[in-house]
Amino acid sequence: MSYNFYNFLNLLKLESIKQEKKINLIASENYASLSSIIYSSSCFINKYSEGYPSNRYYSGCKIFDIFENKAIIESQLLFSSNFSNVQPHSGVQANFASFQSLLNKNDKILSLDLKSGGHLSHGFKKNFSGLIFKIINYCLDNNNCINNKYIELLIKKEKPKLLIVGYSCYQSNIDWSYLRYISKKNNCYLLSDISHISGFVCSGLIKNPINNSDIVTSTTHKTLRGIKGGIILSNNNLFFKKINSSVFPGQQGGCISNFIISKYITFKESNNFNFINYNKQILINSKIMLKIFFYRGYFALNYDTINHMFLIHLKNNFSLKIEKILEKNGIFLNKNFFPNDVKNSINPSAIRIGLAALTTRKIKKKEVEFIANIICDIIENNNIFYKDKINFLCKKFPIYN
Ligand SMILES: *Cc1c(COP(=O)(O)O)cnc(C)c1O
Repeated sequence: MSYNFYNFLNLLKLESIKQEKKINLIASENYASLSSIIYSSSCFINKYSEGYPSNRYYSGCKIFDIFENKAIIESQLLFSSNFSNVQPHSGVQANFASFQSLLNKNDKILSLDLKSGGHLSHGFKKNFSGLIFKIINYCLDNNNCINNKYIELLIKKEKPKLLIVGYSCYQSNIDWSYLRYISKKNNCYLLSDISHISGFVCSGLIKNPINNSDIVTSTTHKTLRGIKGGIILSNNNLFFKKINSSVFPGQQGGCISNFIISKYITFKESNNFNFINYNKQILINSKIMLKIFFYRGYFALNYDTINHMFLIHLKNNFSLKIEKILEKNGIFLNKNFFPNDVKNSINPSAIRIGLAALTTRKIKKKEVEFIANIICDIIENNNIFYKDKINFLCKKFPIYN
């Protein structure tokens, strides 16, 4: 071995201590369940499984086939879908395979722009999606909401082939049935990217867009609490075959066998009352924290949130500096654009806050209020003396208990 194994173990220990001792409010992160971690690291890492169950490129896949079939069935149960592909390595991979199933090169996509809460893979100019498709962006209205009328006008004017609905930073309801109605009327496909909110969707807290979409994509590592991965769902049988061939051989080679077994565990764990209650608690915590920011004089994207996250405007403070000072105090979150932001990407005007990871630690009202007030104090006074208080709080709420 050429590397220093003890050094490696030491770094592993440092990371685990960091995670235990600090508060994580990064909206796209969570703590994967212990069983999903255990099942993600098995001897299946040695098994190549290009292709699909009963139709593989290599021999010796019979045992793995059982697991992939279980993962497919379990995800279909969870999201009421007739079709599922569990192989995408990530959310972006799931999106690219979906584009490949629905579109040709240079086709037009209508999506929310990155600065207003869209995702890189929805056509950002430096992303592959922005290079091979023509991108038209819609923006939020004066209330910072998705406006069906704006979208309808743009669909009629621009005649895109695909409308993408689903965002990395958004607090309000989405009227999927109307968007489906206007896109269908204008021969436009609809892709719903529920990467952030999939836990809420399968808990019934947010309406499932499966029957109002041609394709639904998601990650498995955000509110779903699994390991890093992606998934594609559909109830439009025109695309089932196309999606499979777009994932393999279109976008990927062999799937990560042990991660698919772990996804199976995640889908199973997400299909019960504990998981629904967990998501209900995330929503309660998210609303409580947002309220404290309002009491303290801040404004957010909207006056309420229907999911785990919200966006806080920092007024005259510099978000990069605030992100760094919060980190010194033991609180992680990310700086973010606010819609119509005049500042640049290195120092945008807002911070995005997500409550999924915090809620996994079983933290509730009292502590959520405490943390929110500390964050406001830090923004206002740039103090760096909360580290021990945060550490003390974290000790009472271990990640894996
Ligand atoms: C997080 C996210 C993704 C991509 O996830 P990766 O797993 O990092 O590729 C895609 N779409 C949206 C809306 C997201 O928020």
